[in-house]
Amino acid sequence: MIDNLYVDFDDTLVGSSEVIVGLLNKRFNTNKNVKDLTTWNYTNLFPTIKGIEIEELFDTQEFFDKLKWKDGAVEFINRFPDKIIILSKGNALNLTRKKLWIRKQFPNIKFIGLESDVSKASINMGRGDCIIDDHADNLLDVKAEYRIMFESFKHVEWNDKFYKHIYGKKMQDYNYNKYNCSYKINDLIMDSWKDIEEFVDNEVDK
Ligand SMILES: [Mg+2]
Repeated sequence: MIDNLYVDFDDTLVGSSEVIVGLLNKRFNTNKNVKDLTTWNYTNLFPTIKGIEIEELFDTQEFFDKLKWKDGAVEFINRFPDKIIILSKGNALNLTRKKLWIRKQFPNIKFIGLESDVSKASINMGRGDCIIDDHADNLLDVKAEYRIMFESFKHVEWNDKFYKHIYGKKMQDYNYNKYNCSYKINDLIMDSWKDIEEFVDNEVDK
């Protein structure tokens, strides 16, 4: 049974990095492909770029003007509008623009914006909760009953820990006691909203 769906925004519901790489290509007159991205701060593609410059790009109106929903994301939101809470991190300006961008298409979807230094674990998740996120830390920090890694990219710096968590141990060796909860935590990796919709559909009715 799934009651709440905590869904990440950047690189989960929307193709944020594709836009950032596009903006950086324009700035440096390069032709890098987002598919080759492996580091959180875009430095493997743009070695001279600074973290603050990336943060600034995430704040710009141009970023939001170019941003697109991932395939199947809009359909997913329309399928479970009452269960979805978009849970996203960013600085104040980014969060304001993000909320406006979402509101244009979905005026009533719940949105929680967290400042960049606040953990998603500050939201109290438990039985009946499902989190969908592309960053391993956001998933592994919370006690949601279902934790789905949205695989926007294969084996990058920020999702590697989740692969290790899933494949590094046999299922029966999991130490769920460390989360101190009475239910089983289900960890999954998926790369399409259609598959996630099907999965959630089955679990919602259980
Ligand atoms: Mg994300």
